[in-house]
Amino acid sequence: MVRIKELTRYYGQTCAVDNLVVEIPKGQIVGLLGPNGAGKTTTLRILTGYLQPTSGTIIVNGIDVRENPLEVKKSIGYLPESSPIYPDMIVFDYLLYIAEMRGIEKKRQLERIKELAKICSITEIMHKTVSNLSKGYKQRVGLALALMSDPEILVLDEPTSGLDPNQIVEIRTIIKEIGKTKTIIFSTHILSEAEATCDRVLIINKGKLAADGSADMLKANTSKSQYISMILQNAEMNAVKKVLGSLEAVQKVDTTENSGILTITLSCSKDARADVYNAVKKQDWVLLELKQEKQSLEHIFRELTKEN
Ligand code: ATP
Repeated sequence: MVRIKELTRYYGQTCAVDNLVVEIPKGQIVGLLGPNGAGKTTTLRILTGYLQPTSGTIIVNGIDVRENPLEVKKSIGYLPESSPIYPDMIVFDYLLYIAEMRGIEKKRQLERIKELAKICSITEIMHKTVSNLSKGYKQRVGLALALMSDPEILVLDEPTSGLDPNQIVEIRTIIKEIGKTKTIIFSTHILSEAEATCDRVLIINKGKLAADGSADMLKANTSKSQYISMILQNAEMNAVKKVLGSLEAVQKVDTTENSGILTITLSCSKDARADVYNAVKKQDWVLLELKQEKQSLEHIFRELTKEN
């Protein structure tokens, strides 16, 4: 169990984390989602004992990270944003070195490395030098290092940053597999990743918790707006903005034009399909398409963090 208690962290005048309160029970996969500078890395660095908070604290399994960071570190595996892997070492030698550093018994070391190679799918690159690995494989080696002492909690700072789509799916699959037996807390910018991987999403904005729940729950409850997408022919952009923008429920009209066809997104305070249809009917426009958009995590994220 991880309890983030009224956590605040300033860098000089900059408030990076602002009175954050979150409880994470054992076994959850939690995605920390937020725009650049939201305070994700700062929160993870405090959790892993690498940074002191200005006030508040984090309690991990009853141990206060402010009072006993070393003890907390024992139950956490941490993969920072830029994985600190020595480029000149052979992967196997590096894992052996880390096993030694983490105090794994000599007779268990080889077995543990084999287990990690399987979990992180790195068996075939064990003999390679780290600097010759692709970014995806480097991340997997980083994951193996973080998992070496079989920590109860795994903390990953943007684990898929800079990876290509195939590598992202591979890392995501590994995270989901590891998440069956461990608590995982990871930060990401990628909304689809949070949606696909996490049991729970925490949206952080300007150091504050802006939303907390499963992706489905957030989609159902958080957003104040509904979206309609439509396609019109024989319509002029300014006239469309004026007519649809004047409807009571319509908050915003976004349009793009391509070869005389207008594609329109309406942000609405309620289901405005009937009003929109009636307004279109009075004009000389050809309605090719009109549909209520399913609420996406991206809409919610944009709404909650739009000043950024
Ligand atoms: P990103 O997604 O860009 O990594 P983040 O959500 O992880 O962002 P943090 O890196 O925690 O955010 O930064 C939060 C705020 O604290 C930002 O305004 C950032 O500029 C500031 N900040 C972070 N580290 C430092 C530092 N060492 N010194 C001064 N300000 C810092």
